[in-house]
Amino acid sequence: MELKSSHASPVLNSLNKPRLPAKYVTIPRKKPGKLDDVLSNGWLDAMRSSSPPCKKFIMDANVEVPPDDSDNAYSSWMLKYPSALKSFDHIIKNAKNKKIAIFLDYDGTLSPIVDDPDRAFMSSAMRSAVRNVAKYFPTAIISGRSRDKVYELVGLTELSYAGSHGMDILSPVSDLASDDHPNCIKSTDHQGKVVNLFQPAREFIPMIDEVFRTLVENTNGIKGAKVENHKFCASVHYRNVDDKSWPTIAQRVHDILKDYPRLRQTHGRKVLEIRPVIDWNKGKAVQFLLESLGLSDRDDVLPIYIGDDKTDEDAFKVLREGNRGYGILVSSVPKESNAFYSLRGTSEVKKFLKTLVKWKTQLEVADRGSK
Ligand SMILES: [Mg+2]
Repeated sequence: MELKSSHASPVLNSLNKPRLPAKYVTIPRKKPGKLDDVLSNGWLDAMRSSSPPCKKFIMDANVEVPPDDSDNAYSSWMLKYPSALKSFDHIIKNAKNKKIAIFLDYDGTLSPIVDDPDRAFMSSAMRSAVRNVAKYFPTAIISGRSRDKVYELVGLTELSYAGSHGMDILSPVSDLASDDHPNCIKSTDHQGKVVNLFQPAREFIPMIDEVFRTLVENTNGIKGAKVENHKFCASVHYRNVDDKSWPTIAQRVHDILKDYPRLRQTHGRKVLEIRPVIDWNKGKAVQFLLESLGLSDRDDVLPIYIGDDKTDEDAFKVLREGNRGYGILVSSVPKESNAFYSLRGTSEVKKFLKTLVKWKTQLEVADRGSK
């Protein structure tokens, strides 16, 4: 794919290596090597710290237990990351004459975290809340899942979708925005409407496919391990893997990645994610979407990003550093974040979205009344 010279490629130049041939002959089955204690321990620490317990959730019932106000650690954490619901008046005070744009993560934000990632369904009440939000505000979902999968789970046509941590974006064609971004081509969405398709890591598709198959091959003896191919990244879920096998899973993934210097591994909630080494993340995806919606470099735009995971921090950071909008972290346990506000779980996310819609409709009624 041609890159225009006016833009830098998101692929880190220092790590550019000759492209691997698109066809791969065999999948190398890794011999279970010696456990590399130092690296495995480093990974294990990261695996544990990336997977805090969700003690406020009853996972299977899709019901959240009411907050325990005696939880002192959480209460003091909330002094730094106040509830977006309790701070709603403050948020909208800054939004009154601005156009709000909503960005939403999917897993753990719109749907509960469940043992089987294929069963992370959003409730119909949440779907309706997101649909209503999208009626009033430009709305996009930015997920680590493949774009097709997240679209299948959400099932709403009114939104923009970014899959693979923002490496696969389908966004509306806007008269206001320039469409000269590198790696951006015209395509059609599920309804056949012309849209912009942006895939900065397109060249990695064969490599990810090969790594996915190698990961499947090398983890199939580990009970509970689940490998997913998200097209531009792959993930190894260890939510259902016994703690005792975590070193094995870490070592197997680590061994495979030794052969792929152009791929890196990041930690999500009980998931190891394998991604291309490119200068692209959910924060860049937010910037791209704002640009593509004709909403960047404007003082009258207030982006709000709601997410629960480490990968959402890049988006929180972009909003915080640019003093442009608000990141809202979804968490039932205290953790450091670049977000401004917090919500305790998916129920509170739904409540926040509904409150936003209620405020907007009341504002419109008041505006009509004053004319
Ligand atoms: Mg998430």
